Amino acid sequence: MATISDNLQQVHARIAAACTQAGRPVQSVTLLVVSKTFGSDRVREAHAAGEYQFGENYVQEALDKILALQDLREDLVWHLIGPLQSNKTRPVAEAFDWVHSVDRLKIAQRLSEQRPQHLPPLQVCLQVNISGEASKSGAHPDEVPALAMAVAGLPRLRLRGLMAIPETAQTLEAQRLPHAALRALLERLNADGLALDTLSMGMSADLEAAVLEGSSIVRVGSAIFGAR
Ligand SMILES: *Cc1c(COP(=O)(O)O)cnc(C)c1O
Repeated sequence: MATISDNLQQVHARIAAACTQAGRPVQSVTLLVVSKTFGSDRVREAHAAGEYQFGENYVQEALDKILALQDLREDLVWHLIGPLQSNKTRPVAEAFDWVHSVDRLKIAQRLSEQRPQHLPPLQVCLQVNISGEASKSGAHPDEVPALAMAVAGLPRLRLRGLMAIPETAQTLEAQRLPHAALRALLERLNADGLALDTLSMGMSADLEAAVLEGSSIVRVGSAIFGAR
């Protein structure tokens, strides 16, 4: 049976191959290890294999894990990638390093107000509903420029870029389209005067397409830990 360390090697090889194909340096893509539903022992195993960036979806589960891994806290970077309700912003502002799922101003304002002064600014991405699916969270692409300008002005946040979970598609060409659209939106924001450096896109099934379209953070769970 493949170990977490074997799976990580495979995922890094996929990222490296896609970077080569894209003519990008391999260090330009960060692997975010998505540990949702897996216990802190699995996170320890991935950390022992050299990983330090971890993504979680559910706030309470993540807080329990961050606490259980407090001895490694200095060495780990915790990213919230799941939906965030306004009544849960305080513990998130206190415990996480990044939030990828900001999709409205009210959430961003609360995170900024609640970010403790002794911590560096919370790093944030705006989640965009890039495939226009009715059921998916994320801001509509048309709303993103105004939202980005407002969030960029909040004192205790640092707006880094955009995140999306595109609709699944079977072919590489079809997978590239929504990733290209997210990149175009980021380029437009930068042309409007922002200085964003992060495209959080690509998962186990479509990380190659995302890297080809300029992803800087791929979020990978099942290819590392197995099926959930
Ligand atoms: C679960 C999840 C992932 C990882 O998905 P896999 O298909 O397991 O790689 C990435 N991003 C988000 C937002 C997720 O919820």
